[in-house]
Amino acid sequence: MKPSSNQKSHGFTLIAGCGRLGANLANTLSDSGENVTIIDKNPGAFRKLSPSYGGIVMTGDATEMNVLHNAEIEKATTVISVTNKDNTNIMVAQLAKEMFSIGQVIARLYDPECECVYREFGIDTICPAVLSTKEIDKLLGVPETGAETT
Ligand code: AMP
Repeated sequence: MKPSSNQKSHGFTLIAGCGRLGANLANTLSDSGENVTIIDKNPGAFRKLSPSYGGIVMTGDATEMNVLHNAEIEKATTVISVTNKDNTNIMVAQLAKEMFSIGQVIARLYDPECECVYREFGIDTICPAVLSTKEIDKLLGVPETGAETT
């Protein structure tokens, strides 16, 4: 499905990866009135979207330029890459920043050691391992040290 003219004029959030996290994000952003386009290479992945999801879905590999062009990435205000592969997320995030000058780019990162690569490119990261460690430490009452766990 091609983005609508409304989406073009108001900007939108582009999400790469309609897995558990991507679908949840797409649902919450769409429910809060944001324009959303979500890309996944597996068309079956869109089943995770809620019936109230009002955004656009596109099947394709988010690392391919023609897929990003079809999604009109250049008009996105935010790009969020949450596929299950760090390399894919790095590539999508770099393309969004470097080729399309997207203001806000966020990527999921399984390996916290790769974080410096993202930081170099001005990409914000979400690292489940680091977030989980912080939450578990909190439950255990471990005092915060300020050190990142890798
Ligand atoms: P999850 O691990 O549940 O967050 O799911 C990750 C999602 O990313 C799956 O639905 C994959 O099909 C999707 N995915 C993985 N690689 C790509 C890619 N290159 N382009 C688009 N979607 C992808």
